[in-house]
Amino acid sequence: MSEPTCAACDLLAGRRTVPGGLVWRGGGLALHALDGPCPIPGWLVLTAERHCRALYDLDAESTAALGQVAQEVMRAQRAALGAEHVYAFAIGDVLHHFHLHLVPRYVGTPQRLRGRGAFDLAPGDARPALELAAAAELVAEALGLPGLTPRRG
Ligand SMILES: [Zn+2]
Repeated sequence: MSEPTCAACDLLAGRRTVPGGLVWRGGGLALHALDGPCPIPGWLVLTAERHCRALYDLDAESTAALGQVAQEVMRAQRAALGAEHVYAFAIGDVLHHFHLHLVPRYVGTPQRLRGRGAFDLAPGDARPALELAAAAELVAEALGLPGLTPRRG
């Protein structure tokens, strides 16, 4: 059951794309790069495969998987990308389909883009799609989870 227009449902159905596409799926969750201008390489989003408003509406399968999957993704962001820390945000004011932002912080991340500042990027902060796709694929390849085989190419 989808809302009339839901960007997350469109992404999951292939009607909308992000750099690197859906790099991993499992446990009722899909992993992909941020949908929109992104200032942080390796900023990934875990999105519920089934439409639900927020974590309080997430189905049992995805709820059970969420902790392990988020932890594995964060570990992979640190191991494969060299992030010194990874933030987790579930805000849901704009997109009413449960998703968890997993945002790396690097040694060189400017202070203004740390923490929730990552959402307040200036136009010149957006990184190239190729760089964002490559970072997403590196993380997917480093995941210690079963799921989609990462694309190579
Ligand atoms: Zn949706």
